[in-house]
Amino acid sequence: MEWWMIAGVASVFGMAAAFVALNAATKSPKLRAATNHAGWKIECPKCNTVSAAADAGMIRIGAASKGKRSLLRCPSCQRTAMMRVFRDGNTH
Ligand SMILES: [Zn+2]
Repeated sequence: MEWWMIAGVASVFGMAAAFVALNAATKSPKLRAATNHAGWKIECPKCNTVSAAADAGMIRIGAASKGKRSLLRCPSCQRTAMMRVFRDGNTH
């Protein structure tokens, strides 16, 4: 084995592990509930529907950036677009 083979295998395993971890995080009902409780919402630019961020598979905990856009699939119209991400403080 050459060093670059080992590096390649290691990075593939690293990416796979990261993907599995991300998948587990977005599928965790506990994390989804926490994200919803924090009031994270997304607004679809195509159908103007406001959805809970966790419903679009988005988990944001501790991230305080407002007015950011993120590429997500709309739970309402099923289209993928740059959604406006914001935190609705009135949900508590
Ligand atoms: Zn939509």
